[in-house]
Amino acid sequence: MFEASNEAYRSLRQRFKGDLLRPGESGFDDARTIWNGMFVRTPGLIARCDDVTDVQNAIRAGSETGVLTAVRCGGHSLAGFSTCDGGMVIDLSRVRQVSVDPATQRARIAGGCLLGSIDVATQKAGLVFPSGVVSHTGAAGLILGGGTGWLTRRFGLSCDNVEAFTLVTADSSIVRASSVENPELFWALRGGGGNFGVVTEFDVRLHRLTSVVLAEGLTPIDQIRPLLERWRDFMADAPLDLKWNIDLRLAPHKEKIPAELRGQPVASSSLVWTGDPEVGRPHLQRALSMCPPDSASSRITSFLELQTIADSDFPHGRRYYTKSGYF
Ligand SMILES: Cc1cc2nc3c(=O)[nH]c(=O)nc-3n(C[C@H](O)[C@H](O)[C@H](O)COP(=O)(O)OP(=O)(O)OC[C@H]3O[C@@H](n4cnc5c(N)ncnc54)[C@H](O)[C@@H]3O)c2cc1C
Repeated sequence: MFEASNEAYRSLRQRFKGDLLRPGESGFDDARTIWNGMFVRTPGLIARCDDVTDVQNAIRAGSETGVLTAVRCGGHSLAGFSTCDGGMVIDLSRVRQVSVDPATQRARIAGGCLLGSIDVATQKAGLVFPSGVVSHTGAAGLILGGGTGWLTRRFGLSCDNVEAFTLVTADSSIVRASSVENPELFWALRGGGGNFGVVTEFDVRLHRLTSVVLAEGLTPIDQIRPLLERWRDFMADAPLDLKWNIDLRLAPHKEKIPAELRGQPVASSSLVWTGDPEVGRPHLQRALSMCPPDSASSRITSFLELQTIADSDFPHGRRYYTKSGYF
């Protein structure tokens, strides 16, 4: 089972600058663990790259030996695509540089970055890159799949804010894709997922934003249907500064939740307003009018806080199963 990965190891060990980890070695168990505890797999080799040359060498070793290969950024693939049994994992977790140019409102994001490191770097210049809602998610998997979050209505999908990709293709060459260089590849990379090569850098556009209004409220079960109808009608023409998410869930047993709702099925609304707070106030009030007043709240919060608020709801290592539907 490990024959091909052992061969890849032999081919890499003289020239690889990062770590080459094999089963039984110190650090291997941590390195093979991905976010979804449903996928506990044992690769034969984890090639943790230091730089682009390491990525090229790993890909070359992969194609020469024919070893089953998985690519990993943040390891948050819900389906476990960033690991494998017996093969080689090309691990980008060391390649996490973010360089921001405040003057042009552009950034270069390395292929192994997590969303949180991008937020921290861009906020130093009062700028944002529109991405997802959990800061420990990997940027590469998210951007290559499209990427939605709190800022999608205002600034678009993550992939639509990429101006150029630098990637290593299966023949280990370095290729750029933008609207003028390899435009068909550029099109494919914006939502087509991870199968076109290993992206080592994303050149992205940034936007000005440092704080938002965050409003939240709970709606009891008998009001959920009218709430969803209102949401459908209201959001069709709502300003792009507003994002309104609704989760159907059991209300937690927490002091700040009205006693009669604790443990009950509710619709939990979270609204983010990215424009002038005064302009947003009537929109937020209207959206929350179907929540009992003692379940509703509204406050100005920093963008960095917003981006980490949901982190603890999705801890690493649980056995997650998800499905999506299109309405
Ligand atoms: C807790 C959580 C919250 C999420 N929130 C959001 C959200 O708000 N918005 C949203 O749009 N999505 C969200 N997602 C979905 C998420 O975007 C995808 O699961 C995404 O694939 C994760 O990216 P990753 O880099 O962490 O994953 P990985 O598991 O590392 O990789 C995912 C896929 O991308 C490939 N890949 C990784 N790095 C590269 C690279 N550099 N070049 C080429 N291919 C690569 C991998 O081979 C694999 O196929 C969330 C997922 C989780 C688990």
